[in-house]
Amino acid sequence: MAAKFIFITGGVVSSLGKGLSAASLAALLQARGFRVRLRKLDPYLNVDPGTMNPTQHGEVFVTEDGAETDLDLGHYERFTGVDARKSDNITTGQIYSDLLAKERRGDYLGGTVQVIPHVTDLIKNFVTRDSEKEDFILCEIGGTVGDIEGLPFFEAIRQLGYELGRSRVLYVHVTLLPYIAVAKELKTKPTQHSVKELRSIGIQPDILLCRAEKAIPVSEKKKIAQFCNVPESCVISALDATSIYKVPQNLHLEGFDVRVLEHFKMKSKKKVSLSSWDRIVKRYEKPRGEVNIAFVGKYTSIGDAYKSLTEALDHAGIENNVRVNLQWVNARVFESADAQSKLGDVDAILVPGGFGEEGVKGKIAAVKFAREKRIPYLGICYGMQLAVIEMARNLLGVKDATSAEFSSAPSKDPRGSLVGIMTEWEKDGATEKRSAKGDLGGTMRLGSYPCEIASGSLAAKIYGAKTITERHRHRYEVNLAYEADFAVHGVIFSGKSPDGALPEIVELEGHPWFVGVQYHPEFKSRPLAPHPLFVSFVKAAKENSASLKPKLATARKKAA
Ligand code: GLN
Repeated sequence: MAAKFIFITGGVVSSLGKGLSAASLAALLQARGFRVRLRKLDPYLNVDPGTMNPTQHGEVFVTEDGAETDLDLGHYERFTGVDARKSDNITTGQIYSDLLAKERRGDYLGGTVQVIPHVTDLIKNFVTRDSEKEDFILCEIGGTVGDIEGLPFFEAIRQLGYELGRSRVLYVHVTLLPYIAVAKELKTKPTQHSVKELRSIGIQPDILLCRAEKAIPVSEKKKIAQFCNVPESCVISALDATSIYKVPQNLHLEGFDVRVLEHFKMKSKKKVSLSSWDRIVKRYEKPRGEVNIAFVGKYTSIGDAYKSLTEALDHAGIENNVRVNLQWVNARVFESADAQSKLGDVDAILVPGGFGEEGVKGKIAAVKFAREKRIPYLGICYGMQLAVIEMARNLLGVKDATSAEFSSAPSKDPRGSLVGIMTEWEKDGATEKRSAKGDLGGTMRLGSYPCEIASGSLAAKIYGAKTITERHRHRYEVNLAYEADFAVHGVIFSGKSPDGALPEIVELEGHPWFVGVQYHPEFKSRPLAPHPLFVSFVKAAKENSASLKPKLATARKKAA
């Protein structure tokens, strides 16, 4: 049967959680036995978010097939377990670069190239391609209705409604009912205006998902239904949830998935069971204990900058039955301040991925503290490279050990820079080449690569497998010429690319838990399938917490 298309648009304000709503609906349809795929249309002009600063756009989510995509694709994967692909995220920039390349090739045969039909056709192709195996394609449009950039996308989905017929297309519009405290009322007017805007470009929504901080009275639902031309049963309230894991259940209780099936005149393939989500919600909301993990990064004031990572830690917390409290430490802080004052009372330390020189000194100080004080340490990507640099400097005595990323001075050591630019590597049997001066966008070692784990290592214990695959996003690599020296000090490269050329995992023997990984395990963690590395890390934090707390308390008392 041909796939049905569900378009999710937003109105009133941004940040309404369209991505999460789309992901939750997909999870509900999945629970009813359907195959789903989620897609995101981003109206901005960047070709992809890969080169965007996380402070502006949040994390860059990396897919198995190596695309740098919007963080909503992370929600999609985490809620459905379906791996997103390169072909699931498109931006205006990408559409236009394809279009202009075609135009230069002469593909338009001398015709005038226009937004309608040429841009809209490309958008429609993107939405509908590779949809044969799915029951539902859920497609979220970034931004808010009325944005100038979004117009071609809205026009394209309007056309699809017309071309495929309304029996194959459903429009969901997510809006906000602001609560006005003095009037003690939820206001429906912005929703009415937003739907008016949508209708002015030819789209009549079928379902309204109304975000609100308080329960929506029946009278207000009626009003919305009447003004917006939507059946009252299709005005769904989406109240602020106590946790994101509760959203699928909440929307289910509101009948969202039922309304969707009714629209398509479809019957559920099976009885919905949300018991696995139930278990997660219960554990997440009432954990048995807590751990404090220092998160030493550069963008510590914006939670979205490390979305997958904070979620992965939450998943591991749920698995370990503890709440993971993150202590956000801006790496710049203890470039001057002493590490003890910032990290002295945490149960574990994490240094996430990052780029550039800023904050490097502080991150290295955090590594040193974790290593010397035997505090569980997890270094991800940059956090692994900097851990290796710290150990080279302070264990091996290579004082000028550095990375070509932030030091252009040639290394005095004949083995070269400890962390150097990667110019060649293997991907699926072929050699990938990069020049140091090439484009920044889309040129890193990206996506899933295999890694072989040394038997007997901590990594082997954690993964319980010999070969794993993990997702990458980096330009530099640790130089294995120093490996033998490291081994003398118990620093073991316990995971490597199958050809042995690229280090993937480093660990420190004799330390309670010290692991650095060149890849980003966080992209593969899911609430229903937490990632073993994070589960083990949080477990180590838990053990450290139990064993250190009394000692710390005595030490503090003595110091006082
Ligand atoms: N900046 C480092 C590199 O490019 C690490 C990248 C990252 O942490 N994702 O290799």
